[in-house]
Amino acid sequence: MNKNKGLNNEYFLQNEQLPNEDTEPKNVTGIELLPINKFLFSILLGHFCDKHGPTIVMVTQVGSISTGGDELLVPDFPTDSYCESCSMHISNNLVKDSSTKTDTKSMRSVIADSVYVSTQYSLIRYQLMTQVIRKAFSEETISYDSSPLIFFDDIRGLNFVMGFKLYDDQARGNERRYSLIFNINTKNSKAAMNILANNWDFIEGGFLKIIHYIQHKHEEDIKRQLEKENEDGGFTPMVGTFLRANKVKTSKNLSELTKDELIFIKLHKWNSYILKSLLV
Ligand SMILES: [Zn+2]
Repeated sequence: MNKNKGLNNEYFLQNEQLPNEDTEPKNVTGIELLPINKFLFSILLGHFCDKHGPTIVMVTQVGSISTGGDELLVPDFPTDSYCESCSMHISNNLVKDSSTKTDTKSMRSVIADSVYVSTQYSLIRYQLMTQVIRKAFSEETISYDSSPLIFFDDIRGLNFVMGFKLYDDQARGNERRYSLIFNINTKNSKAAMNILANNWDFIEGGFLKIIHYIQHKHEEDIKRQLEKENEDGGFTPMVGTFLRANKVKTSKNLSELTKDELIFIKLHKWNSYILKSLLV
């Protein structure tokens, strides 16, 4: 067993298989392993976009109560590098102060003594989040059937991943692929695994509820579309065939796919609740 673990060593764990002492990375670099607190946690919604590849659609992080989480808010930014499919979309109709026409880019909740902020990307952990998403979607074993998958390395920390997909004949391969990821940004694998083990059922159950909700809303929408097609005398399927033949694909975000303009606000609330409730 090679005890001299380098930065590029990774664990790849399936389901509840946990590392044993021999496979734990040793603190060979002399870096002090700080205690893990909630500021190191985040929950990501990732998407494998047809146009842009693995992208972060939304990330929820824990901010400092003393700053009100301001350090996590993102300013208005150009969205040229995002398409509809990989965008976090919050309807302006839902924003009370409609005096500005700019889209909402951040959501913030204060619960007890912590602040929870959701954004399209993380200002302070952009590189980390990007590497986590790329890794999550690059794993050939990710099944998109909501079975949990874990990976750990010194760069990406500990990641609990659940993949899922939605049928969409306007997407490549007729499906859109997503993943929910709980990330602990630490090199301290043992402490991180302890936290994950202590909260496994809660995180898995929470993610499953979110995924089932999204899939259920999406199936309802498909049913509605099919009923409408039947009422319209079957003209729409012909349009569908025409579109497919001409490879015209329409990009859709999660809000459209679920016909729920509150979906990202709900995700923010659910993620905040999960992060708030974790036992450290
Ligand atoms: Zn995209």
